[in-house]
Amino acid sequence: MIRKLLLLAAANTRLERLVSRHPLTSGVVSRFVAGTTLDSAVGVARALDDKGIDVSLDLLGETVGELQESAVATAAYVDAIHAIADRAPGATVSVKLSQLGVGLDPSVCAGHLKQLLEVAEECGVTVEVDMEHSSVGPRTLEIYRAFLPSFPRTRVAQQAAMRRCPEDLSSFTDVKPRIRLVKGAFLEPIEKALQEREEITAQYRYLATWALTNLPDPAFGTHDDACIDHVRAEADRLGIAPRDFEFQMLYGVRRDLQERLAAEGYRVRVYVPFGSQWYPYLMRRMAERPANLLLFLRSVISG
Ligand SMILES: Cc1cc2nc3c(=O)[nH]c(=O)nc-3n(C[C@H](O)[C@H](O)[C@H](O)COP(=O)(O)OP(=O)(O)OC[C@H]3O[C@@H](n4cnc5c(N)ncnc54)[C@H](O)[C@@H]3O)c2cc1C
Repeated sequence: MIRKLLLLAAANTRLERLVSRHPLTSGVVSRFVAGTTLDSAVGVARALDDKGIDVSLDLLGETVGELQESAVATAAYVDAIHAIADRAPGATVSVKLSQLGVGLDPSVCAGHLKQLLEVAEECGVTVEVDMEHSSVGPRTLEIYRAFLPSFPRTRVAQQAAMRRCPEDLSSFTDVKPRIRLVKGAFLEPIEKALQEREEITAQYRYLATWALTNLPDPAFGTHDDACIDHVRAEADRLGIAPRDFEFQMLYGVRRDLQERLAAEGYRVRVYVPFGSQWYPYLMRRMAERPANLLLFLRSVISG
């Protein structure tokens, strides 16, 4: 119930305006967001690198209202790619196609993504494509699919909760995708997505084994011990070395576990959001763990 309310709140632009204007939250926001500037994100990347942890930088901001905004976001990503090529080797960028305008004009969005893929390739940086709500998910996958043969290192997120996920995964025949398997963070109707936590975890574990067996260099975006232990055991059983797949986690979530896995020799990448448009991102993090809501409310009350 709380999860549903928070996910509804995440998509509410009036609430976003209200909350974002409140001079609050620096404590709770800074736990999950690296800072408002690219420099702050690169600083976090370098600190994590000292611990043997890679990052993926995410410029906060989602569905744009005008194409001009998608051009601005694309330019900001070009800057981010140059910055990490110079100052945080091994880092990737994670992009949301809603921010590149997929909801307004898919062909303009594809043009923006192409520009990012070209710049990234020149700089030796990998691009990861986030998977968003089902209102843009299928178009996101279509655009990703069109670029995959020319940019095969590009990674795409796949949401285990979505009923179409197994079919989407096995629909890649010629070039196999590098995926980031996640449970799925959006409020979706029962026709489109599994709803029960246990069911989603079971599906995640099933698809994790499938990805280890069938796909190159899979990444597992989860903080769930049940999923992480499953991936480790299955990789072991299948004879897949710890450096041949990757765990991914969110900035500020289970930092002890991130460091422990890296120390044990696993590849770990932390998703590091930066920028000022933190509201929907933060709401989804609260929906995942209602205890975060208490942190948030405390910071509102104490101003
Ligand atoms: C690197 C990365 C990239 C992602 N990209 C996408 C994407 O492109 N599209 C998409 O739909 N979703 C994405 N997600 C979010 C994902 O779908 C889940 O909503 C999120 O990871 C929570 O699921 P979980 O697997 O961690 O398991 P859960 O069962 O939700 O959590 C397991 C345990 O992890 C801890 N935990 C989980 N979330 C939090 C939190 N927010 N704060 C504090 N503790 C927490 C708690 O201890 C919890 O008990 C991404 C997640 C990661 C890690």
